[in-house]
Amino acid sequence: MSDAMPGQPSGSGPVVEGPHDPEHDPRAAYVLEPEVVARLTDRILSTTGTTVQVSSPIDGAPVANIPQSSEDDVAEAFRRARVAQAAWARVSIDERARILHRLHDLVLARQDEIMDLIQIESGKSRKHAFDEPIHIALTARYYARTAHRHLDPRSAPGVVPVLTRIEVNQMPKGVVGIISPWNYPFTMALCDGLPALLAGNAVVTKPDAQTMLTALYGAQLLEDAGFPRDLWQVVAGPGRKLGTPIIERSDYVCFTGSTATGKVIARQAAERLIGCSLELGGKNPILVLRDADVERAAEGAVRASFSNAGQLCVSTERMFVADQVYDRFVERFVARTKAMSLGVGLNWDADMGALISEDQLEVVTRHVEDAVAKGARVLAGGRARPDLAPYFFEPTVLEGVTPDMQCFGEETFGPVISIYRFHDESEAIARANDGEYGLNGAVYTRDVARGREVARQIKCGTVNVNEAFGATFASIAAPMGGMRESGMGRRQGAEGIHRYTETQSVGTQHVLRFGPMLGMSDRAYARFMTASLRVMDKLGRA
Ligand code: NAD
Repeated sequence: MSDAMPGQPSGSGPVVEGPHDPEHDPRAAYVLEPEVVARLTDRILSTTGTTVQVSSPIDGAPVANIPQSSEDDVAEAFRRARVAQAAWARVSIDERARILHRLHDLVLARQDEIMDLIQIESGKSRKHAFDEPIHIALTARYYARTAHRHLDPRSAPGVVPVLTRIEVNQMPKGVVGIISPWNYPFTMALCDGLPALLAGNAVVTKPDAQTMLTALYGAQLLEDAGFPRDLWQVVAGPGRKLGTPIIERSDYVCFTGSTATGKVIARQAAERLIGCSLELGGKNPILVLRDADVERAAEGAVRASFSNAGQLCVSTERMFVADQVYDRFVERFVARTKAMSLGVGLNWDADMGALISEDQLEVVTRHVEDAVAKGARVLAGGRARPDLAPYFFEPTVLEGVTPDMQCFGEETFGPVISIYRFHDESEAIARANDGEYGLNGAVYTRDVARGREVARQIKCGTVNVNEAFGATFASIAAPMGGMRESGMGRRQGAEGIHRYTETQSVGTQHVLRFGPMLGMSDRAYARFMTASLRVMDKLGRA
């Protein structure tokens, strides 16, 4: 591990220096130096004395022993966060935004260290790891630059023109609980927390057990940027154990993960009448219309299906292709899929890396074997590749998938895509809208206006035209989230920060009171008010 790891000025060195650096020596182990691990894990609030070992999906080598938090540790994390939040809420919006902007610079400067950690913990390819610092830099820049737009008090029309003045304030909720998954460990650990901090909140976060070091490195970067250390608390442990104590103490909960867990969280948040945002699973469709640029669609579909080996919430698992371009498209898509370079390692060589865990490999294998046993055809991939890494599965294209197969409607969350032919567009839209999910969709067509028209008929929180997911996901001003069982609430954009605020209206009344004045009877007052309402309506007042 380079000395420029956490807390140090920018450096772009590899994780392990010298001849044992895996970047230069293929026999080297992907283990981190103990003092680096200790510096990171010191940030976990843990008094249990127990640890859980995490190993790398690259080669199975142990990476770190992660200290585990108890319920009391969670309580202490919230206590510290509340103290820090009270002071933070008094810091000016300009100063908060300045610190957030420094994070943008730090993330870009330390992207190599960030990507090293992401790859070691997740097994993904470097180009997919790169998406994470970029997404956080984009998020930090967007919110830093738009802080006043979202957070400044604003005026609204009062009921009596001039005499009633309304000021609307966005006040921090307090302490936000964030529970995040492993698939994009840096992005998911930070992206929802940045607007929470900017809005004046503190955060208690429980990242996924497999990817704690990346999340802890993110916490270190926040402190290096200038956020007070206690403002961002990290606890570690199984979600089933720590989820409830977190929700019991949070003023708002932000969850990203599976739909099944999201429902548990929603029930607990409802019990306490606190708000929650839930970013959940998907079974995302791409529509390739008859006038699509086939090459462009094939390129986008490969990215959409196999980014991070399909372990991306917005990645595509179903593709509906118009009859007129079906053969040409499938030929190009399959050729591109077969040409992908596969592998693990801290270099830029692989187009796709490994799955993160045995559990993931089990689901992917089961879905493919079930489909094949029931008659689906494998056009590309279809096999596990233990020769590359313990949990590697080839990018896989299936044709002839039917509703009785598990991968038809269930989220695989792996590198498996089913292709279906369609004859008319309304049938394709109906099939894309089939099922319970509604996270992300894509439409490929040369007629952009038609593409947007089709997009509006797709029941997904984000839909991309002539792009698979990047256009919406990377546009931080665009709200992002799921319809139906894909979630509730939105990250990004105004919604992404306002979820962490309480909206307060302050009304100030001048001169005129609400009620009869100057000896007016109630009846005369009612007549006067009725006449006033009619006049205001005539004047076009809202
Ligand atoms: P998961 O729901 O099992 O776990 C996610 C997080 O929740 C982890 O930190 C876990 O420890 C915690 N958790 C588990 N049980 C809990 C409980 N009872 N109470 C509180 N916390 C609990 O999900 P996963 O399998 O790790 O992640 C993959 C899923 O996440 C996929 O379905 C994927 O689509 C979804 N995802 C969605 C988005 C999005 O933005 N919509 C992004 C990434 C992942």
